Amino acid sequence: MHRRRFLRTASTLAGVSLGMSALPLPASNLRPGAGLFTPIRRGAGRFESRGGTIGWLMNDDALVVVDSQFPESAAECRDGLQKRSGRTVDLLINSHHHGDHTGGNSVLGADAKHIVAHDKVPMLQRMQAEQRGTLDAQTYANTTFAESWHQEIGDETVRLYHFGPAHTAGDAIIHFEKADVVHMGDLVFNYRHAYIDLGAGADTANWMTVLERAHDQFTDNTVFIFGHGNPANGVLGRRENLLVMRDYLGALRDAAEAGINAGMSAIETGAHGLEGFQSHVLQGNPDGIAGNIATVFEEMTTVKE
Ligand SMILES: [Zn+2]
Repeated sequence: MHRRRFLRTASTLAGVSLGMSALPLPASNLRPGAGLFTPIRRGAGRFESRGGTIGWLMNDDALVVVDSQFPESAAECRDGLQKRSGRTVDLLINSHHHGDHTGGNSVLGADAKHIVAHDKVPMLQRMQAEQRGTLDAQTYANTTFAESWHQEIGDETVRLYHFGPAHTAGDAIIHFEKADVVHMGDLVFNYRHAYIDLGAGADTANWMTVLERAHDQFTDNTVFIFGHGNPANGVLGRRENLLVMRDYLGALRDAAEAGINAGMSAIETGAHGLEGFQSHVLQGNPDGIAGNIATVFEEMTTVKE
C-alpha cells in the first residue's frame, strides 16, 4: 500500500517537474507579429517566425535576405529589416525550394534585383506547387548557379556552394565571408528528426558527405544558422553540429540496413527506433524518427532510374 502510494506520488512529481521544465515555445509556433530578430555579428543575423529560419545581412550598401518563410511572416521580416537598415531588400537567396523557405518570395523578393538559388530550385519549386495547387503563389529565382556563386555586397562577400544532392537535389550553403556566418538551409535539422524529400532528389549518403565537406570548408569560428532545430538546442550552432547531423543520418542508414537484412518492412524497421538520439525527439512529433527510418529504408530499397 505504502509502496503503491509512493509510486503514484513519484510519478505525479515526475509529471510536475516535466511540466516545470517544459521547453520554450518552438519558433515555428510563434504567433504572427511575434517574429524574433537576432543580430549575430558584423551585420548578419537571423529572423525566426513560421517556417525555416531566415538569415539576413545589412550594411551601408545592401540588404541581403536568405529564405522567405511564408507571405505573412515575410512581410513582418521585410518591415523589420527595412526599419533597421533604412533599405529595401537588394538580394534574396533561397537555400532550397521548400514552401517554408520560398513561400514569401513575392514579398521579400519584390524589390530585389536578384533572387538566387541552385539550378534545380525553380523546377523543384514548380513541381511542388503543381502538387499543392499553388502555382499562382510562386515567385521563382531569376539567377541560378551549379556549383558556386558569389557577389561583393558593400564590404562583405556572399558566397554560395552546392555540394550535390542531400536534403533535396538543389541545396545551397550560403556564407557571409567576413562575418563568417553560414546559412545551412535544411542541411541541418539541429538535434531533431529531419525531412527527407525523396521526391525532390534527397540522398542521405551524399548528405553525410556534404556535411563533412562543409565541416572542412569552415572553421571553429564560423557561426551556423540552421533551417530548423529542436527548441532546446535552437537554430544556431558551430561546425560540430554538422557532425551531429551526419551521425544522425548515419544511424538512420544503419537502422534501415539492419531492417532490410532482417527481412522486416519499412514500418517495422521504423518502429524499432534509434538508440542514442533521444534528444532528437520533438514533443510535437514523437514518431518523427520512426518516419525517418522508414523513409531511408525506402530510399535504400528503391532502384534509382
Ligand atoms: Zn526543406
